[in-house]
Formats: sequence, C-alpha cells, structure tokens
Amino acid sequence: MQILDGKALSEEIKNNLKIKVTNAKSEIGLAVILVGDDPASNLYVSMKQKACEFVGIKSILIRLPENISEDILINEITKLNNQENIDGILVQLPLPHQINTQKILSLISPEKDVDGFHPVNIGKVLLNLKDGFAPCTPLGMVRLLEKYNLQDLRGKNAVVVGASNIVGKPIASLLLNLNATVDICHIYTKNLKEHTLKADILVVAVGKANLITKDMVKDEVIILDVGINKLENGKIVGDVDFENVSKKASFITPVPGGVGPMTIAMLLENTIKSAELRGKF
Ligand code: NAP
Repeated sequence: MQILDGKALSEEIKNNLKIKVTNAKSEIGLAVILVGDDPASNLYVSMKQKACEFVGIKSILIRLPENISEDILINEITKLNNQENIDGILVQLPLPHQINTQKILSLISPEKDVDGFHPVNIGKVLLNLKDGFAPCTPLGMVRLLEKYNLQDLRGKNAVVVGASNIVGKPIASLLLNLNATVDICHIYTKNLKEHTLKADILVVAVGKANLITKDMVKDEVIILDVGINKLENGKIVGDVDFENVSKKASFITPVPGGVGPMTIAMLLENTIKSAELRGKF
C-alpha cells in the first residue's frame, strides 16, 4: 500500500507557485468573504490566507455579520467583480440561512470564480474545457492521481460516494473525463456495498466516520478519502476506516494530510491562473 501524500505534493506545488508569482507584472489579489463567525469557517479562511501569504498572493478578508441581508452581500461581490487588483473571489461556505447560496455563487464573475462553483465553470468541467476553473477539492484529487501516475482510467470503474455540488458531482465528471466508468452513490443508494465493491478507484465525500469498511472494498483499490470528521476524543478522521481498509488498498489518502492540503494548493493555482488569463504575466 502506498500513501497518496497530499501534504508533500501541496508543498511542492506551493513552492513552484511562489517562484511563478515573482514573474507577475502586478500584484495578484484574492478576496475572501466571510459571513458570520463559524469557528470551522474561520479556521479554513485563516489557512487559505496563510497559504496566499506564503506564495505572494495578496489576500483581502471581508468580514460581514451573520444577520447581513442578501443585498449587502451582492453589493460587495459586484464591487469585487469590477476591481482590477482582484483576480479571485471566494465566498466561504456555508452561508447563513437567509441567503440563497446558489444565487450568490452565480453572481461572482466566472472569470474570478477561483473556487469553481459558478454554473459556467461547473459546465466547463462537464464539457472537459480547460479554460475555466474546476472546483478545488476535485481538482486536487486529479493532481494527486497524476502525481502517482494513476490518471489513465480507461477500463477502470470509479465509484464516488457523496453527490454534493462542490465535491461529489464535479469529481465524478473529472473522473469521466479521465475515461473511467463512473458510478455515483448518495443517501438514496440502496446497497452501497454492492457499488463500492466494484470500485478500482473509490472517492468518498460524505462526512461520516467509518462509512467505508474493509468488507466494502476489493483488493488493490485506490482510495481518495475527502471526509473530515472530528471524533469525540478530538481526533480528525476521514470517511474510511483507514486502519483496516488501507491493508487492502494499493493507494490511499490519509486524513489529515491527503485531499485537504491539495484543496488549498488548488485555490492558489486557480487564483494565479486567473491572474494569468487576465494578462498579469
Ligand atoms: P455534503 O454537501 O453534506 O454532501 C454529502 C453527500 O453525501 C450528499 O450527496 C449526501 O447525499 C451523501 N450521503 C450522506 N449520507 C450518505 C450515506 N450514508 N451513503 C451515501 N451517501 C451519503 O458534503 P460535502 O460538502 O460534499 O463534504 C463531504 C465531506 O467532505 C465532509 O466531511 C466535508 O467536511 C469534507 N470536505 C473536505 C474537503 C477537503 O478539502 N478535504 C473539502 C470539502 C468537503 P444526499 O445529497 O442525497 O443527501
């Protein structure tokens, strides 16, 4: 079994991006909008800002109160869409209930949508067009597969467990673009094990510790575990019973240190790609 080391690859990518940024003609900017005071969102935003600082991207944090109206948020996005020094706009999710998340994400200019959640960019993923922005977590998984030379999925069965707009659906499209035969499972899937047992490559993005146990996978499976779950003892684990499943796998991502760090590296890569497309290099 080999570990798919997202931490090491993300460091390598960040170091390369840091060198690339020195060639930019003007400052590259990422605006992050954080609504409310959710501790997990605060943590994710600070990790993203730290990563920006490391590679030399200027990050601007716009904090808005939890009870903000949709109109005020829309105004902020409109301003940022028109600001020349801003190459990427990221709205940290989840948003409070009074705000229509899909509406907000659709108002970010697709050219600055470095999270890759705008319908235009999701459409480009489906169409296998490379001039848009793929969502960071799925894109990070593809980069990991490429790093370990596992990207040729012709004749392989890929199974994706979890069908969210930000992870499950886009990674299913990207795996299809790599020529896999793709199966997508979700809460209404009748016999999950029947599907997972067919997987040559298994992506799990649900948010339930130990959802995937060793009886649910075949020998030599490649596993990408997206889940982040905090146990009562404070330990962070994925959705896969790592200890037992890893004994059957050929390649597996650890949690932490697998998909998570790749997500942040891809945010930086998308932001620099945006700056490049906007003529800053
Ligand atoms: P989400 O929006 O809650 O989606 C979860 C998906 O799992 C839904 O499609 C849901 O089905 C499905 N599901 C729920 N229970 C299931 C079950 N028992 N069997 C099969 N499918 C089931 O979550 P998300 O945003 O995609 O995130 C998933 C996990 O990945 C979370 O733990 C999150 O923290 C983590 N995550 C990690 C990163 C990273 O960078 N490492 C990034 C994003 C997310 P329905 O749609 O039918 O309800």
